[in-house]
Amino acid sequence: MSTERSHDLFSRAQQLMPGGVNSPVRAFKSVGGEPFFVQRADGPYLFDVDGNRYIDYVGSWGPMIVGHNHPKVLEAVVETARNGLSFGTPNPLEVTMAETIARLIPSCEMVRMVNSGTEATLSAIRLARGATGRSRIVKFEGCYHGHGDSFLVKAGSGALTFGVPTSPGVPKALADLTLTLPYNDFEAATRLFDECGGEIAALIIEPVVGNANCLPPRDGYLQHLRALCTQHGSLLIFDEVMTGFRVALGGAQARYAVMPDLSTFGKVIGGGMPVGAYGGRRELMQQIAPSGPIYQAGTLSGNPVAMAAGLAMLELVQAPGFYDALEAKTNALCDGLETAARDARVAFTTQRVGGMFGMFFSAEKVDTFDQAMACDSAAFNRFFHAMRERGVYLAPSAFEAGFMSGAHDDDVIATTIDAARAAFAAI
Ligand code: PMP
Repeated sequence: MSTERSHDLFSRAQQLMPGGVNSPVRAFKSVGGEPFFVQRADGPYLFDVDGNRYIDYVGSWGPMIVGHNHPKVLEAVVETARNGLSFGTPNPLEVTMAETIARLIPSCEMVRMVNSGTEATLSAIRLARGATGRSRIVKFEGCYHGHGDSFLVKAGSGALTFGVPTSPGVPKALADLTLTLPYNDFEAATRLFDECGGEIAALIIEPVVGNANCLPPRDGYLQHLRALCTQHGSLLIFDEVMTGFRVALGGAQARYAVMPDLSTFGKVIGGGMPVGAYGGRRELMQQIAPSGPIYQAGTLSGNPVAMAAGLAMLELVQAPGFYDALEAKTNALCDGLETAARDARVAFTTQRVGGMFGMFFSAEKVDTFDQAMACDSAAFNRFFHAMRERGVYLAPSAFEAGFMSGAHDDDVIATTIDAARAAFAAI
């Protein structure tokens, strides 16, 4: 496998860009080695600058749910771009987008478009704080909500109540306001709300965790959080940046039948363009400027080309049977990987929800953050490289979910499982 051109580009990039990248995980720090630079992508494949082809299970970290370079999305983008790239005025596609989201996600009576998942989540907590007049928020260990200051926080030692920054530059005073809970622990959530529920503006959660590998909620867990929030007057925010239009057409809230007060989106709704959104109950959303006093704005928000890409994507995923087929593909892949691992006597298990999945080098079923952290990440790293050598690109970290697309057909999945058979044997 030639990597010369990628190596040259990475050397140049490292001179001018921190770590040689514009987003940390791309640098392969976690798995070791150097990243490859992609020239183009099509369907289930990435093609790098050295001419290598990879079956892709990252899908640009989630957006490419119909596969790369889908002709309908491309056509929508090109056609819309002919009329101008940005107007800074209202445009008709924003209205169609809001109508589409409100129809597909009933908890979103109103929506505001932004440009990334990060913007969506930090806007949502500002709204929650403004609307409740409370300052504290609750997040979960292992959940990622973008790089807003309030989210770059982990649990302080022992104490339930004070968070500590996970990044220099996050003020301690702000981190103090973020409380952290263990995911899938019913009791810990009850205790925290008993202790200080009246100070909590919002609880934010990835309803299926996709940033600590892939951890589905235990039965009744999301309902339990819904009940606690209702009881204590706190808002429940589902961060569906990853799960939205991914685990079901209506997102995790449809799949698990729980109504959050606010939701955040990104990835799939942008069709590969930089898009995020947040939405929720009308009386909450009306408190956002200019109809209300809580400020939030964006020069490029609702950008017509981005809206066109997202709308084309949302049209495609509404095709009858799309999610059943996607889920069947995910199951076929995960079942095949588990069988291949068993045959090679490698301790390995998977989790899958709709079009996302997790791979764990563990003999036990994994559904908490501590269990995910205890998996053999060195084994994952060897597996990652063994798969890459065999033309399969997995997320370059043991703690990321994998993403299936509608473009991964039976042959592509069978080829992946064959590669995994060889990779499990090799590691
Ligand atoms: N929330 C979740 C659940 C995410 O997975 C991500 C990104 N992976 C974000 C928020 C942040 O989105 P962005 O990278 O677009 O800012």
